[in-house]
Amino acid sequence: TDTMATGKINVSVDNIFPLIKKFLYSDHEIFLRELISNATDATLKLKHLTSIGEAEVEYGNPLIEVKIDKEGKKLHIIDQGIGMSEEEVKKYINEVAFSGAEEFLDKYKDAGKDAGIIGHFGLGFYSSFMVAKKVEILTKSFREDTPAVHWTCEGNPEFTIKEAEKSDRGTEIILHLAEDSLEFLEEGRIRELLTKYNKFMPIPIKFGTRTETLPKPEGAKEDDPAPTREVDNIINNPNPAWTQKPTDLEEKDYKSFYRELYPMQFEEPLFHIHLNVDYPFNLTGILYFPKLTGDINLQKDRIQLYQNQVFVTDNVEGIVPEFLTMLRGVIDSPDIPLNVSRSYLQADGAVKKISSYISRKVADKLTALFKDDREAYQEKWNDIKIVIEYGMLSDEKFFEKADAFALYPTVDGEYFTFEELIDKIEAQQTDKDGKRVLLYASDREAQHAYIDTARAKGYQVLLLDSPIVPHLMQKLETTKENLSFARVDADHIDKLIRKEEDAVSKLSEDEQETLKGQLEKALGEKSSYTVQLEAMDSDQAPFVITEPEFMRRMK
Ligand code: ADP
Ligand code: MG
Repeated sequence: TDTMATGKINVSVDNIFPLIKKFLYSDHEIFLRELISNATDATLKLKHLTSIGEAEVEYGNPLIEVKIDKEGKKLHIIDQGIGMSEEEVKKYINEVAFSGAEEFLDKYKDAGKDAGIIGHFGLGFYSSFMVAKKVEILTKSFREDTPAVHWTCEGNPEFTIKEAEKSDRGTEIILHLAEDSLEFLEEGRIRELLTKYNKFMPIPIKFGTRTETLPKPEGAKEDDPAPTREVDNIINNPNPAWTQKPTDLEEKDYKSFYRELYPMQFEEPLFHIHLNVDYPFNLTGILYFPKLTGDINLQKDRIQLYQNQVFVTDNVEGIVPEFLTMLRGVIDSPDIPLNVSRSYLQADGAVKKISSYISRKVADKLTALFKDDREAYQEKWNDIKIVIEYGMLSDEKFFEKADAFALYPTVDGEYFTFEELIDKIEAQQTDKDGKRVLLYASDREAQHAYIDTARAKGYQVLLLDSPIVPHLMQKLETTKENLSFARVDADHIDKLIRKEEDAVSKLSEDEQETLKGQLEKALGEKSSYTVQLEAMDSDQAPFVITEPEFMRRMK
């Protein structure tokens, strides 16, 4: 067949607007994040250009300002960044889905990456049409002799562009809010969005003013009011802890950053892990181990994901290993693809690497904490064991590393590593099949008689009471050689090779027969329990009732 014609397919803008409005982002509120990201990019670009001598202007201390005009039903986002010339507006704004950020990155390559540019979907600006019926751009380039430009668009492909009066460099975006989006005229709603998405963005963001109380002048009278003044209300912290070097931070800085992240959390974190990697992917962040005892609310105060200091989500499923989603903190990575589904994310190579990096860092930190101050680590064990035990079950590499920091507490309040424990029991806790037997109790109160008996015989008894421990025991039994677990009240204990002579019952043989018969009758025929009289330490109890270990774990 003949080719009739070749050419470029033009995506019709007519069709794209309704799409943007409906499907671009399910959450309309992200328009503000996108516009502030653009304002931040424009400011960082200027910073970069001045630093390499390509822009001969004073960079100064630029701000981004968000202003509400209630009467005019308008929202203003104003920056002091590079601005745009008429050509640039035509190129960067009119060409929907043409990402200027990507072009800038291409041009400045790695230098641009270091500058921390945010945008890369090329639809960010147009998300403003999710909430606005009309959008204006007033912009003036940092380049001298470039006239300011006024661009207006009413949500359809027609736009107007003309020269404008604007003397200072930068861009002002004016949103004429649609009737169904007037909630964004509420100060509280905007403050909520700024706190959610922009709290740690790198350029200061001003939203209104606040009254600052000044110290009283010298010689002021007791009841003279303290002087006040109006200052810019800056809603963000442009230099959050995770963007700083660990060597520049102290313990108290990490704690106060935790408070900044979770203002409603009054509990102190147990310890932190500062993440910082730039090869083969970029990732920074701080993870905290919270106290996990008591009510664990996993839905609240979760790990937050950022990209270049812009909040993206607090659903880090697929990015952080599942067992670590119980932690808190921040991870920031420009290398996590966001415009894809979760299932794709889990299969993505880069994301897999990120997930295993995080798991490794956590294991390393735990190893170091244990080595550096064993006592302090042991004190935290009860609060952190759930995460560690869960990690040992679900992550092979973590399981291997955990030999260095997983602890096995005894009923006597001692804490052993696996290796230490084996050392302790090797000599005497071996059964007739040559297996090393780890005795454990799951309930100190209910099993105290058995615990006492085993202790009196010189056996070590572990106190393993977390709900996933049965699974962990099974895992240890299958991965460690010659090992089995037996609860103190299991029949197993009787098969151990003992240090002392077997205890002998004080009852006569006849008495023993009768008692045994009565007990067995009481337990019922189908019972899995066994009555033992002869194997007892008669000072503790006159008899024991035991049950096979496998029956225990089925319950
Ligand atoms: P992206 O940010 O992914 O590049 P956007 O649709 O958000 O895509 O923005 C398109 C382009 O418009 C930007 O890359 C930038 O060149 C330009 N632009 C948008 N907002 C501003 C602004 N406030 N100042 C200067 N240029 C801007
Ligand atoms: Mg953008």
